[in-house]
Amino acid sequence: MDFLKPRYTPMNRRRRIYEGKAKVLYEGPEPGTLIQHFKDDATAFNAKKHEVIDGKGVLTNRISEYLFQHLNDIGVPTHFIRRLNMREQLIREVEMIPLEIMVRNVAAGSLAKRLGLEEGTQLPRSIIEFYYKNDALDDPMVSEEHVTAFGWATPQEIDDIMALAIRVNDFLSGLFLGVGIRLVDFKMEAGRLWEGDMMRIVVADELSPDSCRLWDIKSQDKLDKDRFRRDLGGLIEAYSEVARRLGILGENERVQTSGPRLVQ
Ligand code: UDP
Repeated sequence: MDFLKPRYTPMNRRRRIYEGKAKVLYEGPEPGTLIQHFKDDATAFNAKKHEVIDGKGVLTNRISEYLFQHLNDIGVPTHFIRRLNMREQLIREVEMIPLEIMVRNVAAGSLAKRLGLEEGTQLPRSIIEFYYKNDALDDPMVSEEHVTAFGWATPQEIDDIMALAIRVNDFLSGLFLGVGIRLVDFKMEAGRLWEGDMMRIVVADELSPDSCRLWDIKSQDKLDKDRFRRDLGGLIEAYSEVARRLGILGENERVQTSGPRLVQ
């Protein structure tokens, strides 16, 4: 297999910038770029629950690529440049804003619990919430007051983040509705992209069934990470179904899971 060698970059020769629960960031080929690698690890409840699910990273990489590419195409700025291989994508390096931005259309998860709403209740309008990204504190919910007082983002940046979140929500809601899926809620992250002296807020991290609640409109089946959180099983089948409906996977195609992984 000598002919493959020039294209093969051993993972350990790249500089690892950051390792999170489901992703690893490596130094990119050019300044200002990074490589985002999607792992098979599934975690929930602040990593108290952890499992490796063969093939998950391939699906979240492909689905996130699809969603980010479409956002770029309709003029919603993101960190995404292009997919490199089955598990990796090239992204722009941004200064991450330490917030999880939740956008909700339907009551579920922590919102349903906190306010005593029945899961599945349509909300009067879309709701945006901020959570401070801090594992030691279990990502507490914070208000705009906290965000500005502690300098996590300025009032102008909050306005930009909200505007982005609404555009992403409108786009994703319509896209999923078209394939028979209800976008219940999702988590988004944002970063500052510097271009010379200019800075703009862009969508970063990932958008995939790992960070969205997606319900089949007809059957109400969950096609997202709640399958793992709630021990429902069939996570790969559910993510594959999302990929199939979006046209990313062919009708009878399955993700190739184990086996050698080439970096192209
Ligand atoms: N979510 C996420 N990462 C987290 C927590 C939540 O991506 O650490 C997503 C979750 O999949 C859902 C949305 O954010 O689509 C809202 O989640 P919620 O606040 O209800 O929290 P949960 O009950 O899922 O912990």
